[in-house]
Amino acid sequence: MQTASTITPSLDPPSQTEQEPEVVTFGCRLNAYESEVMRDHARANGLSDVVIFNSCAVTTEAERQFRQAVRRARRERPDAMIIVTGCAVQVDPERYAAMPEVDRALGNMEKLDPRSFAAEGVPRLLVNDIMSARETAGHLIEGFAERTRAFIEVQQGCDHRCTFCIIPYGRGPSRSVPMGEIVTQVRKLVDGGVREVVLTGVDVTSYGSDLPGQPSLGQMMRRLLALVPELPRLRLSSLDPVEIDDDIYRLLAEEPRLMPHLHLSVQAGDDMILKRMKRRHLRGDVLDVCRKVRDLRPDAVFGADIIAGFPTESEEMFQNSLRLVEEAGLTWLHVFPYSERPGTPAARMPAVPKPERKERAARLRAAGQQAEAAFLESRIGTMAQVLIEEDPGDGKGPRGRCEHYAPVRLDGEIGAIQKARILNSENGELTGVPA
Ligand code: SF4
Repeated sequence: MQTASTITPSLDPPSQTEQEPEVVTFGCRLNAYESEVMRDHARANGLSDVVIFNSCAVTTEAERQFRQAVRRARRERPDAMIIVTGCAVQVDPERYAAMPEVDRALGNMEKLDPRSFAAEGVPRLLVNDIMSARETAGHLIEGFAERTRAFIEVQQGCDHRCTFCIIPYGRGPSRSVPMGEIVTQVRKLVDGGVREVVLTGVDVTSYGSDLPGQPSLGQMMRRLLALVPELPRLRLSSLDPVEIDDDIYRLLAEEPRLMPHLHLSVQAGDDMILKRMKRRHLRGDVLDVCRKVRDLRPDAVFGADIIAGFPTESEEMFQNSLRLVEEAGLTWLHVFPYSERPGTPAARMPAVPKPERKERAARLRAAGQQAEAAFLESRIGTMAQVLIEEDPGDGKGPRGRCEHYAPVRLDGEIGAIQKARILNSENGELTGVPA
C-alpha cells in the first residue's frame, strides 16, 4: 500500500503556461503517474481552463485536505472547469458529485479514459463499479512533468483485505500491466531524458498473478533491465515484506542498476496487532527480510510504513513497533496515526483515543528522525551516485538523490548521475563534491 503522505499535493510544474491543465495530486505515486495520464488526456481534448483533482482516501485527513483544496480552487478560478477523481471519489461518488464547486466527478477507471475529458457531452457523475475492473488502462505517458525520475504503473488494485484499509474499494481487484507495455513505456521515458524509473502500484508484489505464465515482479524486473539496457536506475515502491520473490533477491545481489533501497509495508511491529490487521507477515519476517537483503547487498537501506494507535494497541504492543525501527534498521519512516475508514472491519474494533494515537505517532516519528540522522551521518566520507534532479534556487546549489534515496546537494548538471564524495550532513541533507 502506498500511503497518503508519500506525496504532498503538487500543482503544475512551474514552467507550464496558463493554457495548461492544472492537476492537483494527493496520495500515492500511482496517483502521481495517473495525474500525468490525465494531463495528457486533457491536453489532447484541448481542455485548458480546467483544474483536475486526483484524490486519496487512505485517511480522513487526506479527504479533508482534498475538499478544502477544491473549495479554494473554485474561489481562485471561478470560471475554470473543476474535475474531481481518485479513490475518495471512487469510494463515495455521490458526496463529491454533490459539491457545488464540482463540474465533473470521475471514477478511477474513467479518469484514464481520454473520452472522459471531452469539453462537452460527459455526464457530471461518471463512476462505474471498480470491482468489475479486469485490466489496467495501459497508457504511455510522454514524460513526467519534466523530471528525471518517473513513477510508472506496473500493477493496479488489491486482492488483500487488511482490516484498516479502504484502498481495494477505491482501486478494485489486482491486475498487472503486461510486460510489453512496461518495456515500451520505460523506453519512451528514457528516450525523453528520464534517468530513474520507480515501479509503482497498489500491491506491486502481486504483479503477474493475473498474466499468462504468471511472471513474478522479480522476473518482470529482470526482463525489463535486460530489454532496456539504457535505463540507468530502477527503484521499487512499497513492498509486502513476505511477498518479495527470489528474483528480486538475486537482482539485489547482482544488478547495480537496481537501487539498494526497499520500502516495506510493515504497518506494525507487534504480532497480535499484525494479525488483527490481517497482514501476511509477522515481526520476525520483517527482521528476516532486512537481514537477508543486507547479506546480499550490505549497503541496502529500508523505508517503512507504520501505523500508530491501531485499535486495541496497548502501550506494550506499541513498544514492539517502536523497537522494530532500531532492530530492523529502518531509516525512512512514514508514520500515520490510525484513521478510521468507514466500512472497514478495524473501524468497528475498540479504538485507541485519538490524542494517544497522535502521541504514539510523534514518538515513532522521533525514532525515525533519529534513524535518518544516524544514517546520513554514516554516509560522510563515503562515495555516492547522485541523480541530480533540480536546483531549488535557495542558494545551496543543485539537489539530487543518491542510490540510498538520501537528498544530496552537489554541483552538477540536472539529469546527470554524478559520482560524489560525501562531505557533510546538515538539516536532513548530505553535501558532496564531484569525484
Ligand atoms: S488491503 Fe492491504 S495490501 Fe491491499 S492496499 Fe490495503 S494495505 Fe495494501
